[in-house]
Amino acid sequence: MTDKILIANRGEIALRVIRACREMGIPSVAVHSTADADAMHVRMADETICIGPAPSSDSYLSIPAIISACEVTGATAIHPGYGFLSENARFVQIVEDHDITFIGPSAEHIRTMGDKITAKETAKTLGIPVVPGSEGGVGSVDEAKKIGASFGYPVIVKATAGGGGRGMKVARDEGEMERAYLTARSESKAAFGNDEVYIEKYLQRPRHIEIQVFGDGQGNGVHLGERDCSLQRRHQKVFEEAPGPSISPEERAHIGGICAKAISEMGYRGAGTIEFLYEDGEFYFIEMNTRLQVEHPVTEAIFGVDLVREQIRVAAGHPLSFAQDDLKINGHAIEVRINAEKLPEFRPSPGTISHFHAPGGLGVRMDSALYDGYRIPPYYDSLIAKLIVHGADRPAALARLNRALGELIVDGIDTTVPLFHALLREKDIHTGEYNIHWLEKWLEAGGLE
Ligand code: ADP
Repeated sequence: MTDKILIANRGEIALRVIRACREMGIPSVAVHSTADADAMHVRMADETICIGPAPSSDSYLSIPAIISACEVTGATAIHPGYGFLSENARFVQIVEDHDITFIGPSAEHIRTMGDKITAKETAKTLGIPVVPGSEGGVGSVDEAKKIGASFGYPVIVKATAGGGGRGMKVARDEGEMERAYLTARSESKAAFGNDEVYIEKYLQRPRHIEIQVFGDGQGNGVHLGERDCSLQRRHQKVFEEAPGPSISPEERAHIGGICAKAISEMGYRGAGTIEFLYEDGEFYFIEMNTRLQVEHPVTEAIFGVDLVREQIRVAAGHPLSFAQDDLKINGHAIEVRINAEKLPEFRPSPGTISHFHAPGGLGVRMDSALYDGYRIPPYYDSLIAKLIVHGADRPAALARLNRALGELIVDGIDTTVPLFHALLREKDIHTGEYNIHWLEKWLEAGGLE
């Protein structure tokens, strides 16, 4: 197996990988910026190395710093976590050129799927249903208007290089098209250094359903069902669950089967997520993420598998340790994302944790990097913890979430925990009747007041 793994990330996901390494008997190396010298992932790893100053562009995103850290520590593999360099094909190419194992797919698969236009074309070729939209990039306002007229409004203008919900603008009619088109382009230029955009039919009340897939690069591909991540604010997920409350076993087998076949045909290696919008019983591909997702623990809970361990194994050249028939769903799991943010504006609220107490007990998992006295630096993402609950069925998981949230103590800063207490008082959350617009509408209607 792998000799030593360097984790090119921070926070809860770095800890998640360190834990898998320790259980597998593989030494781990934590990298950190100067702002993270006291971070939990630094305390938990076998070895640590400072890779630069606080801004991520000079540390967690610095390819030379990460490669040098491998050379200094003798790490033979890199786990990228999510975010940062995890979907950067150039980085993966450089890692491979240095004879370091990248724990993830090939640079080529990351490149193809990272560009949303080539991803959509590839998906179509592999028999995956896609959202109706432009064939490739859209070069001018006039062309955008022609496409709007042919598909019918509303439409959504999206960045080819997009991610994290940025560079997306809806045009409800032709009058809104010019503005939507130009704003999406300029936002995308600013965020991704690439202003290519494409257009899709804007679905009115879909759910966000994503299929977890896994391949070993040796022709084996499986799916691990779906996650419903429809509860979103500004296109960012806040509450995720598996299985999806609206998906039948037949639908799961159907769409999952298409995805698993695509993965094995591609010769894809590692974990991936194929994201769909789901409306009126139809699935529409929107994108593929070629990495571990933030919300992977709900899938781990219901299938009883360790996805990070599996990533490490297949990167080391082992075949998948499970076949499709071995994968059976047990119960229901929910994850809530706890951010250091002040409600109701969701304004970042970094600061010092004066007291932290994690909930526990049957079916409760807390993935966080918090501890008493921890000072949350202002430089990075505001996600500070993920609370994952698992129960025999959906009502049991919701009851457990309520109980676990009641036990959680995070003093000293503001967090998004009150959002989840409020959501658990809503009938629609209990019946599972929500779509991707539910949360925004509920917030606008004063749901938090
Ligand atoms: P990103 O890579 O930025 O996360 P995605 O393509 O995955 O972008 O889309 C993120 C979210 O934006 C989706 O979960 C959905 O809520 C919304 N969205 C994207 N495309 C459409 C569409 N065609 N119609 C309606 N909503 C959409």
